[in-house]
Amino acid sequence: MNQRILIIEDEPDIIEVLKYNLEKNHFSVASAASGEAGLKAAGELLPDLVLLDLMLPGIDGLEVCRRLRDDQRTRDIPVVMLTAKGTESDVVVGLTLGADDYIVKPFNTSELMARIKAVLRRTEPREGEAQGEILTSGPLRVDLSKHVASLDGAPIELTLSEFKLLTFLMKKKGRVFTRDQLLDAVVGPDVFVTARNIDVHVAALRKKLGKYGGCIITVRGVGYRFEEA
Ligand code: CA
Repeated sequence: MNQRILIIEDEPDIIEVLKYNLEKNHFSVASAASGEAGLKAAGELLPDLVLLDLMLPGIDGLEVCRRLRDDQRTRDIPVVMLTAKGTESDVVVGLTLGADDYIVKPFNTSELMARIKAVLRRTEPREGEAQGEILTSGPLRVDLSKHVASLDGAPIELTLSEFKLLTFLMKKKGRVFTRDQLLDAVVGPDVFVTARNIDVHVAALRKKLGKYGGCIITVRGVGYRFEEA
């Protein structure tokens, strides 16, 4: 069965372009032109992914995202936000609320399709994700059970925070995380440190990764993501 995508967007031209491209890529598509209609459709259709415009009449996209996450039925449906240029602060809020990715308008449709497919791949429930898992990316290898990271076969000395940061990013390759999300993952939500501390950990980690330090990409105004080495 085709995967279902729900578009929540108020601009008919954009809906039309999205629908055309998604159907060409063998998705089945539904759309809703307001936040209210979108929430209702999401609850009824339980789509495989929601494409969510942030600028909507009535309930805005961020509130839609919040309500999708609050509702048990829709909590795990991946959300890709459609945002305007210069609204990085909304992107940060959206990612914090649990959105999975975002794309800035005007978008390139092939890039959007690639993002959608990547999010669907990442969020697919994986069978038998083993304990003692090994993460790899190019020459970089992390053995979670042994707590060892190595590069081209040579072990790298990482602090606990750096190790946690690296594994967190590697587990969700390609996904953007805000500084606050990374801090929660690295030091826990109860420790009081500023979000900028994460920049220090990232800088140290990049240095230790040497020529592969560029795997950790800075997403300006938003946070960081890991790209395949
Ligand atoms: Ca809009």
